[in-house]
Amino acid sequence: MSSEKTSIPNSLNEHWMPFTSNKDFKENPRLITEAKGCYVKNHQGKTMIDASSGLFCNPLGHGRKEIIEAVTNQLKTLDYCQPFQQGFGGSFELATKISKHTPGNLNRIFYTICGSTAVETAIKIAVAYHKARGEGHRYRFVGRERAYHGMNIGATSVGGMVNNLKAFASVMMPGVLHMRHTHLPEHKFVSGQPETGAELANDLERFCTNFGAENIAACIVEPVAGSTGTLVPPKGYLQRLREICDKHGILLIFDEVITGWGRMGSAFGSQEFGVTPDLMTMAKATTNGIVPMGVVACKEEIYDAVMDASPKGTIELFHGYTYSGIPVSVAAALAVQEIFEKDDIFNRAKDLSPYFQEAIFSLKDMDVVENIRGYGMMAGVDIKMDQKPGRAGFTCFKHCYEVGVNFKATGDCLIIAPMFISEKKHIDEIIEKLRTGISNYSKSKKNWFSIMKIGVPKEIKPQENRIGLTPESVKVLVSNGHEVLIEKNGGFEAGFYDDQYKSSGAKIVDKAENIFSDSDIIVKVKEPLSNEVKMIKENQIIFTYLHLAAAKELTQGLINSKAICIAYETVTDNNGRLPLLAPMSAVAGRMSVQAGAHCLEKNQKGRGLLLGGAPGVDPGNVVILGGGVVGENAAIIATGMRAKVHIVDKSEERLKQLSEIFGDKIIPQHSDKTDLEKLISECDLLVGGVLIPGAEAPKLITKDMLKKMKRGSVIVDVAIDQGGCVETSKPTTHAQPTYVVDDVVHYCVANMPGGVPRTSTLALNKATLPFLNKLAKNGYQKALNEDPNFLAGLNVHKGNVTYKAVADVFGHTYVSPNEAIL
Ligand code: PLP
Repeated sequence: MSSEKTSIPNSLNEHWMPFTSNKDFKENPRLITEAKGCYVKNHQGKTMIDASSGLFCNPLGHGRKEIIEAVTNQLKTLDYCQPFQQGFGGSFELATKISKHTPGNLNRIFYTICGSTAVETAIKIAVAYHKARGEGHRYRFVGRERAYHGMNIGATSVGGMVNNLKAFASVMMPGVLHMRHTHLPEHKFVSGQPETGAELANDLERFCTNFGAENIAACIVEPVAGSTGTLVPPKGYLQRLREICDKHGILLIFDEVITGWGRMGSAFGSQEFGVTPDLMTMAKATTNGIVPMGVVACKEEIYDAVMDASPKGTIELFHGYTYSGIPVSVAAALAVQEIFEKDDIFNRAKDLSPYFQEAIFSLKDMDVVENIRGYGMMAGVDIKMDQKPGRAGFTCFKHCYEVGVNFKATGDCLIIAPMFISEKKHIDEIIEKLRTGISNYSKSKKNWFSIMKIGVPKEIKPQENRIGLTPESVKVLVSNGHEVLIEKNGGFEAGFYDDQYKSSGAKIVDKAENIFSDSDIIVKVKEPLSNEVKMIKENQIIFTYLHLAAAKELTQGLINSKAICIAYETVTDNNGRLPLLAPMSAVAGRMSVQAGAHCLEKNQKGRGLLLGGAPGVDPGNVVILGGGVVGENAAIIATGMRAKVHIVDKSEERLKQLSEIFGDKIIPQHSDKTDLEKLISECDLLVGGVLIPGAEAPKLITKDMLKKMKRGSVIVDVAIDQGGCVETSKPTTHAQPTYVVDDVVHYCVANMPGGVPRTSTLALNKATLPFLNKLAKNGYQKALNEDPNFLAGLNVHKGNVTYKAVADVFGHTYVSPNEAIL
């Protein structure tokens, strides 16, 4: 036997471990030897971040000095006293403290040993209460599928975990009914409370009809089902249960063993979801998990009914445990209460929750992540099934454990519940390690997905400094098993450096030729120039902006290459909009006001006017032509600068939407009903944002109208890409962005987002990455076949033009994309 009790001992045979695959463990033991703060250490000396707060037990972190001291002091003065017909002061003090946090008048506190015994106790109290009121015929309990309430006979019976119920079917409590769970397919990747599914609570009403409400003692649910992978209650679900219970005199029990003590951001799920139960169980965090303790809180009237039913001097409830509220547990719980108060712990959990939720949902882009659910400081991440249901979680857990993140897995789900003392850096570490562990798991299942080589050459168009992928996007693709090649210094001008790409898992390649010759997919920003077209291989997938309708030579080059060319700008969404064009329009819109404000300065030949005015001085006047993505984003910046903002659009409905967004910060103007000449004669900055996809922009401002504009006023014509919406506009560059006509400064940079390559690359990647992920995971045929919006992006396919407008404009034969990819 080793001298260190927690190091690996000579024999692992004798200890029969709970809820463990004993054979697997004994072959490959995972022994924990130390724990401090958010970390644990194993017998191999590896430090791991604890991502499920030790089974939800330790939200305050491991090794809390205050709790250790309280327990030590207690043991020195009173180590044990029997809890029957005797007591000690601490347990009363603790009950008072607990009842300050419990909802409503759940002010009567019964101590148990753990969560299971708390549930058992709640069941017995429910029976005792009904009996005391002459309703002893109420013997049925209602639980819910997928619930976990613990492992004694009562808790197992009301629980809804199939394996647990099947294993002990012969000894389960009689008369238990299970409502359906609320894990609906439409809740996939829903963060927080789902909108649908409240009606599932009506199962309880059905049981009342079918089995007699008068026979039902209580209904027990976890406000958020925890062990089964964070099933958040649909909006209105718990309220509905409450109504049905009230209608039929059924007690409602909330099992808050996991959700209690801040996990949801409020003291209990009850307060968070606004429903008060009749009985409530808690355990785990009550003592920060360091000594066992369970608690049942019940309404005063339940306690009173049971008390009143027995004569004085007799035992009112024939129930209790040798370890009910023993001094050492009470001392720990009192110290925990003090920390809760001193450190304002519930609010800390509430404040950290949005950060955690956003971080955990960022794993959505991983191929093997099938679903994520979350609320407060807890989440469930479903992993793609490994042959049979139930294996994936544990196998994936082992990969994660190897890379230094420890948590609990149930079935195919990873249960993640960080400590409340976590800082953002701990959340980041958990997510980073989960990503690596899940990715390693995914790579071990190589045959599940296609593995692609994705190449990103440096953009060679003059003044183009954006790049196809950010290091963050590379990380996602690599974690999904793909290989990414980045051309040396490709992201340099956008502030994305080779070492960042390398640490995200990319390979840095010296020459574009090697990228083109080695890759299955080429990801770019701008259309390929003739030098690049020469390097494109047959069957290679090209994913970038193409704008082929204005590029005859390029179209022919791509036809000749026999590549598969998907254009960002023609991918659609369900509303017929262009989701991969929108981010660049948004950037250009925001930039238009920034550029315009600069041009208004005197030394830029402007009016010498500050858009936002000054104290006591009126702000400048901005007119935005077009209320689309460009216009809306221009308005965000212009209103933020406190300018007076007019938006002109021909759609009444769109103007109404914009008024709802901006309130009285904008003046909506219907283009047909507005005297445009008058408006522009009064404006300081005119933003041209009228874009008609695939067509030339209408010339709304004629040469004559321009003459009416003020001297030194500014036009920023964002529509210049499509010919511009001002008659005097002609394309300029970032190097020479402006010129003056009739004393009006014209800013007509054709490639505005290129001026802010960092922001533009980030914005573009946010939109393109989900599509690229699908393309890489499924191959182009499956990816395009499954998504008609993505298919709309296919412009050229193996020598055929598959985009009608392009085929028509150059007289090529059109082949429909559906036909092409058959
Ligand atoms: N109830 C719920 C909601 C639980 O999650 C658990 C355990 O995870 C229990 C009861 C049982 O608690 P214990 O294992 O302390 O008996």
